[in-house]
Amino acid sequence: MSNSRQYPTFVTHLECSYTGKHYPADRLHGLSEAGKPLLVRYDLEALGKQLNKQDLQSRLPEFWRYREFLPVRRTENVVRLGELMTPLLPAPSLQAEFGCGDILIKDEGRLPTGSFKARGLALAVAMAKELGVTCMAMPTNGNAGAALAAYCSRAGIETYVFCPEDTPRVNVEEIAFQGAKTFLANGYINDCGRVVGEGKEAMGWFDTSTLKEPYRIEGKKTMGLELAEQLDWDVPDVILYPTGGGTGLIGMWKAFDELEAIGWIGSKRPRMVAVQATGCAPIVKAYEEGERHAEPWQNASTIAAGIRVPAAVGDFLILDAVRQSEGFAVAVSDEAINQAHKECAVKEGILLCPEGAATLAALKQELDSGRIRRDERVMLFNCATGLKYPMASTHHRLDLTQAVDYEAIRRA
Ligand SMILES: *Cc1c(COP(=O)(O)O)cnc(C)c1O
Repeated sequence: MSNSRQYPTFVTHLECSYTGKHYPADRLHGLSEAGKPLLVRYDLEALGKQLNKQDLQSRLPEFWRYREFLPVRRTENVVRLGELMTPLLPAPSLQAEFGCGDILIKDEGRLPTGSFKARGLALAVAMAKELGVTCMAMPTNGNAGAALAAYCSRAGIETYVFCPEDTPRVNVEEIAFQGAKTFLANGYINDCGRVVGEGKEAMGWFDTSTLKEPYRIEGKKTMGLELAEQLDWDVPDVILYPTGGGTGLIGMWKAFDELEAIGWIGSKRPRMVAVQATGCAPIVKAYEEGERHAEPWQNASTIAAGIRVPAAVGDFLILDAVRQSEGFAVAVSDEAINQAHKECAVKEGILLCPEGAATLAALKQELDSGRIRRDERVMLFNCATGLKYPMASTHHRLDLTQAVDYEAIRRA
């Protein structure tokens, strides 16, 4: 097997998402000169001529089946940990209870390292390898750091990861265990981001913070390609996405544009709904106030750590997609998250992560408010395996030094 094969790539350049200024591909980039995220642009006409939908059918059911839509040039730079396509699970009991149309749960907890951060980091690490990076650093609330650590260990790249003090303990341990130099810092994710930003030059780090390098979006874009393919090149009416930095929402929005440009889907777009927690809802506040940029949220607090992001560099990209799609941004309480978490586990046998539960809580709330109609086909995102998170303890004790009381067991 040759290990220096080229993938057909169609990258033409990178583009500042704010000013439109062009930057050359195949070079290391962080943010644009305007301090905004860079987006990868492709020769979509050539891509559309080279590839058709049927070509995908003979490929493995995994992330790299969409390689023409991705910027990696050489196969030896692809770092694989088994990035399988994730299932779209129906939720018939909840549907019956809410009296609504199809509910589909895209279960991203099946990915390597147990979260959809694997999509973004698989791509970011492959591109870092392609561009000669040897040391990467990032601030993280947990799952991104775990994915970075795993992919970098596999690629032979050194990593430094900084977590806010209240990062779920299992995340901190998995990051450290998978080979990253891991620091728990007494501050928020933005404070950890500052440590990376201010130290990167002296330390020789490549800054892998959310949207501060161009490729995590491209990895997350595969969610949009994948869900469209799974719906036979259609899109749902509404997508509820738990929004922290917004990489996935921005990535899917980009995917739909690229798919329309090559004629694989039409002009219909899902209404994009950004779901946040009431204890940290900067995007919701900006949406409601009609702003294009969000103010940093003070004293952010929610059990859903993945969406505890007080300030997002890509705020305007999230808000633009939400508005253009005629969606909205909405916050749900931790109490509603906990209730939805339990309800989905008991009624559907699906163990969500708290952030995934937030999308279910938002669906319930907005079916009641009427902002989501009962005839709409809705997709929820479960971003991580529920097994990483604490669960309310509801079991019973059984004392085996006593005679077993089966009647008491029946009544339990
Ligand atoms: C990162 C993360 C999110 C938020 O994803 P973004 O695309 O960065 O907004 C939601 N849930 C979980 C579990 C996460 O790890």
